[in-house]
Parts: sequence; structure tokens; C-alpha cells
Amino acid sequence: MRAIVVEGGKAAVRDEPEPTPSEGEVLVKVHLAGICSTDLEIIRGYAGHQGILGHEFVGTVVEGTPKLKGKRVVGEINCVCGRCDMCTSGLAAHCRRRTVVGISGRPGVFAEYVALPEQNCHEVPETITNDEAVFAEPLAAAYQVLRQVKIEPRMNVAVLGTGRLGLLVAQVLAQTGSKLIAVGRNPKTLNLLDRKRIRTTTANDLTSKQDYDVVVDCTGAPEGLKTAMNLVRPRGTVVLKTTCHADAAIDLTPLVVNEVTLLGSRCGPFGEALSALARKQVDVASMITRRMPLDDGLDALKLAAEPDHIKVLLKVVE
Ligand SMILES: [Zn+2]
Ligand SMILES: [Zn+2]
Repeated sequence: MRAIVVEGGKAAVRDEPEPTPSEGEVLVKVHLAGICSTDLEIIRGYAGHQGILGHEFVGTVVEGTPKLKGKRVVGEINCVCGRCDMCTSGLAAHCRRRTVVGISGRPGVFAEYVALPEQNCHEVPETITNDEAVFAEPLAAAYQVLRQVKIEPRMNVAVLGTGRLGLLVAQVLAQTGSKLIAVGRNPKTLNLLDRKRIRTTTANDLTSKQDYDVVVDCTGAPEGLKTAMNLVRPRGTVVLKTTCHADAAIDLTPLVVNEVTLLGSRCGPFGEALSALARKQVDVASMITRRMPLDDGLDALKLAAEPDHIKVLLKVVE
């Protein structure tokens, strides 16, 4: 099968053996896969992943139990042991022995087929198109913010970064009725939020008075945390969504002096993401700027890094 493979800091499209599902796994034929900033970071060395890239997909189960066979699915990326202290205390996403699809110790979804634990798969309701379903994983990550921080209508909330994840986080947080502002650089993505009546500004126009209750960093850059600390009020919360191959050289003194809560935030609830997609509460389709065949994957990865593009999708198999 064709696949995009990362090896020694380089990506290549090549033939790979088809995966054989292990006990408890299903075989999924991948229809569409989404390129995310994490994929671009992995090529630059983040997480040290070697092998097939990609973790956002929608596909059909072609081999597995009758419950899922023939069903259209999306999949959670953390493959867990079910027995360690994290798994048994309800924190399976933090399993001590986990592998992560296309990120750590497990082949990804930029391939015609992927083997996944059955328990990771979520059936996609018929009312959700493939174009929408492929956003389930990053949208779930956006919903995770609401699981971690209680956001009330009276609160001042800023989302930093209006890239792929920032656009989703801003739309999810807009549902809280809080005083939300999205801060970005790219006129194209700022426009997209303007049309959804989400207040936007550019970083240069933002006056930092340290009066935001919650600041969510989706910049994907180490400087994001610094900006967030300039905006957050004393005793406020900074949520860090950025994963980055570069180290942030940053003075954490303001964090101490202002008693700021710093929260890391990663994967989230697929159920909430799928029901938001089914109810058309979040608009993902307008984020798609290009669809390309898997064989043109290297060009697709290049395009995904350009500011003119938001979401680039890989068409894998019909
Ligand atoms: Zn991702
Ligand atoms: Zn575990």
C-alpha cells in the first residue's frame, strides 16, 4: 500500500506492507486524512517518530468484529494498555505504556490502511460528511479546553493563534457566551472568524493589560506562552495547546508573581466533537483549502505549511 513515511527528518511517499490487525484491533481503509501542525513538527523532529505519519482520518472498517465491520469511523489516537495506574484511574489518554497513532511507536493514517484498537473507533453518524468527520480528532482536542477550565459568560477569554487548531478552539469557546477574542496574524483566518461573529484582532493591536481570565495558546510557537503571560490576569489561567520541536526560552517569573495557573491540554472527547459536527455547531468545511491525492503527499505537506492554506486533506481511497 502507498503511505507517507517519516525517516531521519524527511518525509517520503512509498510502498509499505499492509498492516495486519492484532488481537482486539480492526483494519480501517482510510478515505480522507487531515494534515495537522503536529505532522509538520514531527518531520522537524518533534516526538522522534519514525514510520508512517498522520493521525486525523475518516475511514471504513474492512476487517473486524460485526459491530464495526463496514462502518464509517474516526479514531482516537492514544492506544492504551488498560492496566496501568493511569488507565485504571480513568486517565487512559495518559497510559504509561501508550502508543500514539502516527506520533509515537505506532504507524499513522497517511496510508491506505491502518490497524487500530477497536475501542479507539467511533462510528460516524450518517449526517456527518467525510469532509467534516476528518476534523473529529482536532475538534475533540478543542473541546478538551472546556473539560479543563470552567468558562463563564462574564469572563474575558483570548485565543492566541488562528491556525488550524485556533480556529476550532475559538468556535468551541464562542459557545460559552464569554467575552471572547481571537488573536491572529493571518487576514484569511481572521476573516473566517469575523464572518462567524467572533471578535478578532491582530497581535500588534492587542493592548496587554493582564486582564484576561483565560488565555488559550494555539500559536504553535514557543513565543505563544510569553504573549499569554502578558495577557492573563493575576490568578488567571493559561491553557497551552502548542506542541513544538523548539524549546521556549522563557522567564517564568510572571507566572509565579501573578499566581497564574498553567494548564497543558492535549486530546479530547470524541463524543462531544461528533455531536457538535452532527448539529453543525462548528463549521469545519470552510477551513478546507485543498484536497490532494496521497501520492502528492509531499506537496500537500509543503502547502499545509503555507499561510495561504488552512486545512489540507489527503484523499486516500474512495
Ligand atoms: Zn493533530
Ligand atoms: Zn495504561
